Amino acid sequence: MKKALLRCKTCGAEYGAERAPFRCACGEPLDLAWDGAGIDTNERCQSRRYAAFYPFAADEWRSLGEGGTPLVKLEALGQELGLAQLAVKNESANPTWSFKDRGTAACIAHARALGYTKVGTVSSGNMAASVAAYAAAAGMEAFILVKGNVADEKLAPIAIYGPHLLRVAGPYDALYSESLRLGAERGIYFMNSDVPFRVAGSRTIAYEIAEERGFRVPDWVIVPVSAGGNLRGIINGFEDLRRAGLTDRLPRFICAQTARVAPVAAAFAAGAARISRFPGNDTIAHAIDNPFPPSGNRVLAELRRLGGAAMTADEGEIVRAQADLARCGLFGQPASCVPLAVLRRARAAGIVAEGESAVLVMTGSGLKYTAAFAAHRLKWCDCDLAALPEHLR
Ligand SMILES: [Zn+2]
Repeated sequence: MKKALLRCKTCGAEYGAERAPFRCACGEPLDLAWDGAGIDTNERCQSRRYAAFYPFAADEWRSLGEGGTPLVKLEALGQELGLAQLAVKNESANPTWSFKDRGTAACIAHARALGYTKVGTVSSGNMAASVAAYAAAAGMEAFILVKGNVADEKLAPIAIYGPHLLRVAGPYDALYSESLRLGAERGIYFMNSDVPFRVAGSRTIAYEIAEERGFRVPDWVIVPVSAGGNLRGIINGFEDLRRAGLTDRLPRFICAQTARVAPVAAAFAAGAARISRFPGNDTIAHAIDNPFPPSGNRVLAELRRLGGAAMTADEGEIVRAQADLARCGLFGQPASCVPLAVLRRARAAGIVAEGESAVLVMTGSGLKYTAAFAAHRLKWCDCDLAALPEHLR
């Protein structure tokens, strides 16, 4: 690993990335500060194509082929919404069917560069499966901590990769900081939701969107926000491209949250400088039901700095968006469909103007949450072979 810095955008403190803490002493998250840039256009996988944007040596990466996901144009839906162009960045095409693989790959490279043999995370869904899979591929021991009330059927898709899977009773929020403390003590690299290299991994979503569009930046990029790390990474990625002279401007960003759990959107609307804990509520967009996101303050500051917005959608709007995207051939988990629901509101409110372009980040596969099928009126028909000609008429 080459010498690199981690910087706190909130207080300005800097740390060497070779022995870095996972958060700044001020309590806010850290970002990779690294000036390298370059694209190997012969490679499709993010960790080879965009390796120059990271301080790692080639043999420190352990890739499963993350990145290189399709940017799918939705012409009819775009026209209906009065947009010049609408596209979905389909992150369900990653090795474990979510965007998390990008950050996991970068964290695994960092962990290997630092000599770790044990990794872990705090998650019950996409990130848990991603870390378990990448640890297996890298021959590392994995410790996955899930909250105490998680049902057995959600554990199987994590357990299949063979990690130490621990269902921990007690307050879930406390697990985040406790895992970082115990990890430092026990030599386990906890690659939680917004640790610096997980956020750095998300930058490649921006690189790919820009590259696919011939380095013409879209007017808007809309991202579902839970912990806040993915949106921070995508913002940083577009800033990298502008710094490298590959693009001439940044898009504007919308933080998309479910109305049932909207700590960033609530603080944004109230003009607050910091987020407050949002009362916990059940939502179909369970993958983004984080009531007190660890990068919430930072996301809020970035949206204000760049002229973005934070908006919500209700349960019915999210289900409708999931159906709309499925009719375009894209089946995302409910949290992944919140950006489309929010875009409808942003168009109605005139925040996104007629004739502009937008990219929605679809973060994970619909098959990750099959309980959502119950929210749709799905239909099929039974018949016997003799009656088949009649049915096909
Ligand atoms: Zn700081």
